Amino acid sequence: MTPMLEVDDLKVHFGGVKAVDGVSFTVEQGSLCGLVGPNGSGKTTTINAISALVHLTAGSISVGGRVSSGRTASVIARSGVRRTFQAIRLLPDLTVLQNAMLGADDGEKVLQPAFAPWRAARAQRRAREAAMTALERVGVAHLASVRPTALPYGHQRRVEIARALAGEPDLLLLDEPVAGMSPAERIEIGELLLSLKADGTTQLLIEHDLGMVTRVCDFLVVMDFGKVIASGDPVPTTRNELVREAYFGR
Ligand code: ADP
Repeated sequence: MTPMLEVDDLKVHFGGVKAVDGVSFTVEQGSLCGLVGPNGSGKTTTINAISALVHLTAGSISVGGRVSSGRTASVIARSGVRRTFQAIRLLPDLTVLQNAMLGADDGEKVLQPAFAPWRAARAQRRAREAAMTALERVGVAHLASVRPTALPYGHQRRVEIARALAGEPDLLLLDEPVAGMSPAERIEIGELLLSLKADGTTQLLIEHDLGMVTRVCDFLVVMDFGKVIASGDPVPTTRNELVREAYFGR
């Protein structure tokens, strides 16, 4: 097995708050790993550290065998690590297609009028194609010309996923992609994640619904108070005493 992501003794402290405090885990290439734990346990901060949105207090992160510490968020993204956010971050004045294009390589540049015109046409075509493919993948290609604010919440979430997919990621970080979705939509997104896995995309999924994570994930990492309290095969891991206490015991 080849590791795609290696997090080694990661610490992210905000002043006295030890949001992540010595976390280590590995995500194998082509696998779907669930990152679970109660609210405030450090999951989003871990994903923020992997995408270089927060400063590492200590430890190291490697993606595809390359240490990513010291690289900027845009360099990490361009190296094939894409993500979605817990709160939807779509731009209301752009169409669904343009929002998805933002995730493609050079996507931000091609939407700027000042982008070099001799490069713009080709880059724009590439970004448009990648965005349309991603929108088809998540089932909202027919809404490409609509503004995201006109869409129901579940569809906005899909556009958020499409924006990440438009970058054709090797490693996809998903921060609660089904939050607020109906049970039927959750099943559909679960199917989508499994199909991405079948295509070889490695995924790290933050999700509260233990039913969903045990259904789709190959491996679970459970956090509490900034530390990993259990990890392993999903079903036995959710039955672990410490995990049950963290989820239901307080
Ligand atoms: P989770 O994703 O598991 O809900 P978070 O990673 O969002 O947890 O947060 C972990 C802890 O770190 C929480 O106590 C949260 O309040 C704190 N925290 C997160 N970001 C910051 C920040 N920028 N400044 C201070 N504390 C933060």
